[in-house]
Amino acid sequence: MQLYNSLSHKKEDFVPREAGKVSMYTCGPTVYHFAHIGNLRSYIMEDVLEKYLRFTGLDVKRVMNITDVGHLTSDGDTGDDKMLKGAKREHKTVMEIAKFYTDAFFADCAKLNIKTPDVVVPATSYIDEFIKVISSLIEKGYAYEAGGNIYFDTSKLKKYYVFGDFSQEDLEVGVREGVEEDGNKRNKADFVLWFTKSKFDDQELKWESPWGLGYPGWHIECSCISMKNLGEYLDLHCGGIDNAFPHHTNEIAQSEAYLGHEWCNYWFHVHHLNTNSGKMSKSSGEFLTVSLLEEKGYDPIVYRFFCLQSHYRKSLVFSWENLDNAKVSFDKLIARIAPLTAEPQGEIDEAEFGRLRGLFDEALGSDLNTAMGITVLYDVLRSKAGASTKLALIGELDKVLGLDLIKKAQEKSSASEAAPEEIPAEVLELVEQRKAARKEKDFALADQLRDKIAELGYEVKETRQGTEINKI
Ligand code: AMP
Ligand code: ZN
Repeated sequence: MQLYNSLSHKKEDFVPREAGKVSMYTCGPTVYHFAHIGNLRSYIMEDVLEKYLRFTGLDVKRVMNITDVGHLTSDGDTGDDKMLKGAKREHKTVMEIAKFYTDAFFADCAKLNIKTPDVVVPATSYIDEFIKVISSLIEKGYAYEAGGNIYFDTSKLKKYYVFGDFSQEDLEVGVREGVEEDGNKRNKADFVLWFTKSKFDDQELKWESPWGLGYPGWHIECSCISMKNLGEYLDLHCGGIDNAFPHHTNEIAQSEAYLGHEWCNYWFHVHHLNTNSGKMSKSSGEFLTVSLLEEKGYDPIVYRFFCLQSHYRKSLVFSWENLDNAKVSFDKLIARIAPLTAEPQGEIDEAEFGRLRGLFDEALGSDLNTAMGITVLYDVLRSKAGASTKLALIGELDKVLGLDLIKKAQEKSSASEAAPEEIPAEVLELVEQRKAARKEKDFALADQLRDKIAELGYEVKETRQGTEINKI
């Protein structure tokens, strides 16, 4: 497949190091609050990428961390610990918060058909691994102690700003106005690997380390969790675009310094979901969740469909109107598939199956063009092939799209079969007149009306539950 690589700034042929196998790492959620639908846009597109790689026959092993310690309110090293902030907000312990929001995250993912990665590791379960890698970085001269904390020394690298397409403002995140400068740092881009001195004495989770009681910085977790589970070479690393700097830049710095060689070949970044008022962000506290979509009557899969209609490398604007448009298109699509599920199933037209599967493969293989992939679904529906071929194709494409197309079409088709046929207004009117006649004890008129109703093909009966009208 052709995939845009943030490292080279161009589309490249995706070639895993080991033929047939892909090692894939995804930055997981910081579990101090619900995931917002912006976060979930990233996870939906990463899920489609993983499923597409599998669709092409590759054996993917995917690993994800859960950030339950160390992520401060700025992506640099300043501000509160996000987890501690969440715990204070809800008067719970950090671990209670972590458990609750980790479960909530996976529940949201399930509703959006996002597959759980093969390996999921909470950062707090890997402290020994962090200590091992940090100790080695100190030994190799890439890290230093200052003011009680351990910092990565970015001046020791040949190149630090590897993604290289950030504005000066982005790069100066550590010394931006309003963000406190850390006087312990030798270079402004240096970052913390281990904190023992933090402004927050009430930091709940602390561990013994060679440098004193403390806790890890945010970036070290992804390097360690990836290297431990996927080895010293990584094919593909994913995350939202905001992760590219400083998080991924720091991951590369520490991993390559530790390993002594290049680490990850392809970097996949999903651009942001925005609202008309700007980027959706968890820390602002105002954001949209999957539960909110459900409360408003939307099937979460409609949101997945909405995301797939646009390219992952373009920012996407969310509005209720845009979501409504996606819902209308999705409902129409399901309504077109529904009759196929009731048709007699014949032989599969292998040539047509191959042709349309090939078109889909081409679309997704072209830097994950999901919108084009969806148009192939319409090509399938327009095809001259029979219902069985179409259904087989829809099932095949849906392995990647994850829209439950056949299940929803079957539900729609059986719902329309089961729905009682609407009783004509004329019959209902006669039934009302008959009720009135019975009330007046005019049984002769009631009988006449019953006969008229029967002429129209309906039978009317009085039962203990009330009046029953059935088709004869
Ligand atoms: P967090 O839980 O904040 O660590 O973020 C989880 C994932 O969501 C990361 O990959 C982020 O880069 C990504 N992300 C954050 N905000 C957005 C957004 N507005 N749109 C898309 N992805 C986002
Ligand atoms: Zn990460």
